[in-house]
Amino acid sequence: MDFHNKVAIVTGGASGIGRACALALARDGAAVVVADKDGPTTRALVEGMRSWGGRAIACVADVTVEQDAARIANETVAAFDGIDILVNNAGIQPQGTVETTSLETWNATLAVNLTGIYLVSHYVIPEMRRRGGGSIVNVSSIHGLVTAPNMAAYAASKGGVIALSRTMALDFASEGIRVNCVCPGVVDTPMLREAARLASAGRSDETLKQWQHMQPLGRLGTPEEVAEMIVFLASPRASFITGSVYSVDGGLGARF
Ligand code: NAD
Repeated sequence: MDFHNKVAIVTGGASGIGRACALALARDGAAVVVADKDGPTTRALVEGMRSWGGRAIACVADVTVEQDAARIANETVAAFDGIDILVNNAGIQPQGTVETTSLETWNATLAVNLTGIYLVSHYVIPEMRRRGGGSIVNVSSIHGLVTAPNMAAYAASKGGVIALSRTMALDFASEGIRVNCVCPGVVDTPMLREAARLASAGRSDETLKQWQHMQPLGRLGTPEEVAEMIVFLASPRASFITGSVYSVDGGLGARF
């Protein structure tokens, strides 16, 4: 896909799915702002991208902090003169029921996974308007559609991302700003490996194998496979697509 002259922000861009998006967008010519709260990993990724000619800057920011959300938009405009694409990908995945989840964990999950999308979009949309349009892709999860036990805060936050994406799409369609939502299934990233560790008391390899066998395609997804869908939706090839929700889940959501 051709993203020359396009400027993209990827939140949570230092790791996993966000990292794959940042790399794919930069390889296809976009100027990319990697916005992530993990400073060292973000800076190392951007350095690597620049070493092969990618146009990228690091923006070390926490999407739950309003000043940081504003800074993501401001630093992007200062570096690249505008914003065309926003991938709202930053997320955390604590486990627990409504009984075992503390209020602190509940609030933190909603803050990153849902409020973070509101905050960054709030500051980015005026810049997209100045450009005459744009494309936003919000990363939800299969847990926003169907779910599993012990995922109360995460599933609630990801269901919220789907609803928010639809209303955002309707609010800004007339201004040429498209908003879509992607629901990954079980994807091999640091987040998934941490979830396996928490779920298995030290036997995470076995847990990962079990999860693999649960997949209709018989394997975990890769971050790059999810990035393919996100990058397509961000591109002009998806020009008639807005307000839609796409699963990239190896068939998991189809299973009864
Ligand atoms: P990951 O943990 O590998 O990467 C997440 C990134 O987000 C990290 O770099 C982290 O530093 C960053 N981040 C976390 N909180 C932040 C904050 N407050 N501000 C800025 N950055 C922050 O995770 P991943 O698996 O690549 O997940 C990416 C997205 O995909 C998340 O929204 C996740 O919920 C979603 N998702 C993942 C899976 C999966 O199986 N891996 C499945 C469904 C949905």
